[in-house]
Amino acid sequence: MTNLSPRTRAVHAGTRRSQYGEVSEAIYLTQGFVYDTAEAAEARFIESGDDEYIYARYGNPTVRMFEDRIAALEGTEDAFATASGMAAVNGALTSMLNAGDHVVSSRALFGSCLYILEDILPRFGVEVTFVDGTDLDAWRAAVRDDTKAVFLETVANPTLEVIDLKAVAEIAHEKGAKVIVDNVFATPIFGHALRDGADVIVYSATKHIDGQGRCLGGVILSTKEFIRKTVEPYLKHTGGALSPFNAWVMLKGLETVHLRCNAQAETALHVATALEGHAKLDSVAYPHLPSHPQVEIAKRQMDQGGTVITLNIKGGKAEAFRFLNALKIVTISNNLGDSKSLVTHPATTTHQRLTDAQRTELGITDGTVRLSVGLEDSADVLGDILGALDMI
Ligand SMILES: *Cc1c(COP(=O)(O)O)cnc(C)c1O
Repeated sequence: MTNLSPRTRAVHAGTRRSQYGEVSEAIYLTQGFVYDTAEAAEARFIESGDDEYIYARYGNPTVRMFEDRIAALEGTEDAFATASGMAAVNGALTSMLNAGDHVVSSRALFGSCLYILEDILPRFGVEVTFVDGTDLDAWRAAVRDDTKAVFLETVANPTLEVIDLKAVAEIAHEKGAKVIVDNVFATPIFGHALRDGADVIVYSATKHIDGQGRCLGGVILSTKEFIRKTVEPYLKHTGGALSPFNAWVMLKGLETVHLRCNAQAETALHVATALEGHAKLDSVAYPHLPSHPQVEIAKRQMDQGGTVITLNIKGGKAEAFRFLNALKIVTISNNLGDSKSLVTHPATTTHQRLTDAQRTELGITDGTVRLSVGLEDSADVLGDILGALDMI
């Protein structure tokens, strides 16, 4: 598979056919596995081979197909699938950290990621230093000889600030720290996290990998050594396993993820370009817009600008709410990466928990609106947005 393009790998890699020779992958909806003899059971508990399973919390053939396929797409040696994106973020961090360790993280994080780094890890004696992810001097000052890991989202939610992954990875690697990247916004299609120096890549498969709003899932990608020696023992005993049914949905999602992400990103660029300078907007943020402050990094790091646009609506909350309520095709929901275009008002939903000062620090205002662009016709999406802007 390694000489084939990622798009081909996303369709074929990891397939395990049963004796029936099915075309579409089977869902092995089973918790356990039987052994021909007591000796065989004993042997498998001593050491299980590649296609030998014990219990679905440890591994399952459908889950394994998803892990192999996403690893082949991303280009990593191995992957471990999890019940949600947060189980993946938590698993990647807690499986490798011990009390007394130091972590440096960018500050602009998905809310639950921030909760793990700011509230949970310190309770177990892990020291976490937060930095402005776009400020390389801040990373240099924060990463120490005893820093075990750095954590970042390559594109921040919802401001869409882009962090120079390659530069941060160089700073981290100089001190021997592992680079853990939450790569949801860059997607497995546009991002090249492994090439740019990430040691561990984490996805919420709930987003673009399912891409059709059905199942929760997540995945941790890294070397075979890290996945099987560090991540697997932690996750198989703490219970973050992905269900075989959800793994199947994600596996089939991977077959179309390339087409979907590209179509959604093309519409996103079209919509963002058309909205720039609109009289009702203070600003439009999209990583591949020439006006984006980190557009050069974004172009080097991502083949397309992603599927999310952030708008700052003039007039604050009242006008932002009027805009959301006037949309007809784009629906109000806090998810992203869906085939349906979705819109959310971060200050009152995803980032409600933060103080005003924290929101200001992250660049979230009362007029900030996050738009996840779906698979609808781009003229219809743009028409809906322009129509709703007319109503405010
Ligand atoms: C959604 C999301 C997560 C969490 O994923 P779940 O599948 O909802 O647990 C983590 N990080 C980012 C950047 C996300 O967008």
